[in-house]
Amino acid sequence: MGAIQLKGVKKSFGAVDVIPGVDLSINDGEFVVFVGPSGCGKSTLLRLIAGLEDVSGGAILIDGQDVAPLPPAKRGLSMVFQSYALYPHMSVRNNIAFGLKMAGMPKAEIDKKVDAAAAILNLTPYLDRKPGALSGGQRQRVAIGRAIVRQPKAFLFDEPLSNLDAALRVQMRQEITRLQRQLATTAIYVTHDQVEAMTMADKIVVLNAGRVEQTGSPLDLYDHPANLFVAGFIASPK
Ligand code: ADP
Ligand code: MG
Repeated sequence: MGAIQLKGVKKSFGAVDVIPGVDLSINDGEFVVFVGPSGCGKSTLLRLIAGLEDVSGGAILIDGQDVAPLPPAKRGLSMVFQSYALYPHMSVRNNIAFGLKMAGMPKAEIDKKVDAAAAILNLTPYLDRKPGALSGGQRQRVAIGRAIVRQPKAFLFDEPLSNLDAALRVQMRQEITRLQRQLATTAIYVTHDQVEAMTMADKIVVLNAGRVEQTGSPLDLYDHPANLFVAGFIASPK
């Protein structure tokens, strides 16, 4: 049984069925990429898992427990936002520490966790700077640092690299996958970029109009696309 399971998950906004029904099983430690064209429901599905939206039907289970009654903070997941979601007036240290402070963790423990995360992310020399004094890649690392210190069950990423230039995007893809392996934390990563999906994923979930067209490894999808949609989507350049 997967660590995160979606069973007949549905979401409608008013009369619009954005997610008509999704079944999915995500294993511990897996790097799963939701890929599909703009508007297909990737962000909505991620927000349902995060608890930022309520499901209209079906169930989401984490370690076998239905999470419907749990608010986002109680689901043990950390969403990594784009780098612009940093607090500009706070130092890097305080940006990374923010969630832990809110949770009431003692300062000494917070300092230890922030120092460890900064070391992993090569941010140690920048802890006293403000985000405005950092490069785009460093800001993205701070955003990741905020998620890491909470030691979540899974990281949820929603197109975290879309603000970055092409060269930095390639570098950050590698950094994110390296980090995910090192921490052995499950990741769900949303992108509309096929190359990103093919290079980062253990398992790709191809979405189209709120439905799963195919789930498989990058090689499975490349070698055995289930249908023309998947074949066309995987093959088409960005
Ligand atoms: P993606 O992330 O794949 O681009 P989204 O999940 O953001 O797609 O959106 C899927 C569909 O749901 C779109 O048609 C979008 O307009 C619609 N949608 C998303 N959020 C809302 C909302 N809060 N209210 C109404 N419609 C929404
Ligand atoms: Mg989106």
